[in-house]
Amino acid sequence: MNPQETWKSAYHQLELQLERPTFETWLKGAALLNVEEGVFVIGVGNTYARDMLQLRLYRTIRRAVCDAAGETVELRFEVCQNLPEPEVEADMPLFRLLAQQDPAEVGVPLHKQIARPQRPELPESELNPRYTFDRFIAAKENEMVYAAALAVAERPASNYNPFFIYGGVGLGKTHLLQAIANSCQSRGLRVIYVPSEAFTNDLVDSIRNRTTAMFRERYRSVDVLIVDDVQFISGKESTQEEFFHTFNSLYTYNKQIVLASDRHPRELETLEARLRSRFEGGLVMDVQPPTLETRIAILNSWAREKDISLTQHVTEMLATRAKANVRELEGVFNQVVATAQLTGHKLTMDTAVEIVEGYHRPRHHITLAQVLDTTAKHYGFRAEDLIGPRRTGAINIARQVAMYLSREITTASLPQIGDAFGGRKHSTVLHSCNKVAADLLVNPVLQTIVKDIKARLIKEQ
Ligand code: ADP
Ligand code: MG
Repeated sequence: MNPQETWKSAYHQLELQLERPTFETWLKGAALLNVEEGVFVIGVGNTYARDMLQLRLYRTIRRAVCDAAGETVELRFEVCQNLPEPEVEADMPLFRLLAQQDPAEVGVPLHKQIARPQRPELPESELNPRYTFDRFIAAKENEMVYAAALAVAERPASNYNPFFIYGGVGLGKTHLLQAIANSCQSRGLRVIYVPSEAFTNDLVDSIRNRTTAMFRERYRSVDVLIVDDVQFISGKESTQEEFFHTFNSLYTYNKQIVLASDRHPRELETLEARLRSRFEGGLVMDVQPPTLETRIAILNSWAREKDISLTQHVTEMLATRAKANVRELEGVFNQVVATAQLTGHKLTMDTAVEIVEGYHRPRHHITLAQVLDTTAKHYGFRAEDLIGPRRTGAINIARQVAMYLSREITTASLPQIGDAFGGRKHSTVLHSCNKVAADLLVNPVLQTIVKDIKARLIKEQ
């Protein structure tokens, strides 16, 4: 059988196996585009079908194709413009989606659907109470962006909408975004602050759990929607599409939208043009690195807050040498506080210099691949075993330990770790890390294992 015949046979098989609405909605019209090194590339009509097939039907379809081919193959789904598009109302992909998923559910009123047990609020959406306008030192270089943020917080949707802040890491974007959120929330406005990665995860979860109506309800019923690090939605088509509709809906009802990114919207290369033009349609401002004077002012303000006294020389030295951004300054300052509290003495210049130098000494640069490899080896497995789907006892433990170590000694984020472990969810990674951390408290054998693997990683690099 050639690949086209294989696909045809699998396709018919699936038509019989799957429930009618499922097949009609997601798979009907799907075509084999080509085969690349054992990967069947299957074209589908839209991004929802692609995500749905990838997330929920991958195994079923793969089994059918493998059976037809008589060998193991992998699949990839791609959106293909030339396929006959299933009719989807342009403005309401998710409501439509919900209706298509389960016809029995269409008539269920929204409040009943919402009453179903749901996972609690996203942990990522929690606000840091320390990120307030009071605690932001607005020196000359950031006077304007501070004033604009304050204006947005005081009168949402009447001044600058959307309000877009961009700039390098550690310069206070998240601080300003959350200051807006804290201020609005304290006046009783409904606010969502969400890093864009969490928005994406939430969307994918809602498609998987059939709670898309709730997803929309949640994001569209706020007074102020704040999305941080929007650079991460670049290139993610279905997220962008949903975000576009969320954006329009809020904007139409005169609700405030606030965004932050590491660069200007025009430099977000894979951002859809229509979203970019929405972003640029409001006020776009950047945050600037603090000058030496500002860094000194920030240190003085923190020292007052912590009731710590630093000599002027020490403060100047710290501000001169911790100059990359405010996050670095904060890291150094926290160590200064810890040392001062530990010794109970006034901090000497020597100790302060030691702290800054220690902070700048290169850290271990251990990659996720190294953690995977070394941990797998320690348990007698291969890295692929930990990446793969098997969940037997020993593999599962090794995998959890590897996730824990990845979080502890690499700089990767939870979603990045999840990706490295075969596309697992960030909540799974978090769960594993917490579990291992809890076990470590009571399990001396595990303590030794973790210590050994760490030592090996550091030695091998
Ligand atoms: P970004 O989101 O731009 O990467 P953050 O908002 O996370 O940066 O800032 C890093 C740290 O520096 C935070 O703890 C924040 O409170 C602090 N910070 C940044 N700018 C200022 C400032 N002008 N005044 C006081 N603290 C600041
Ligand atoms: Mg940030």
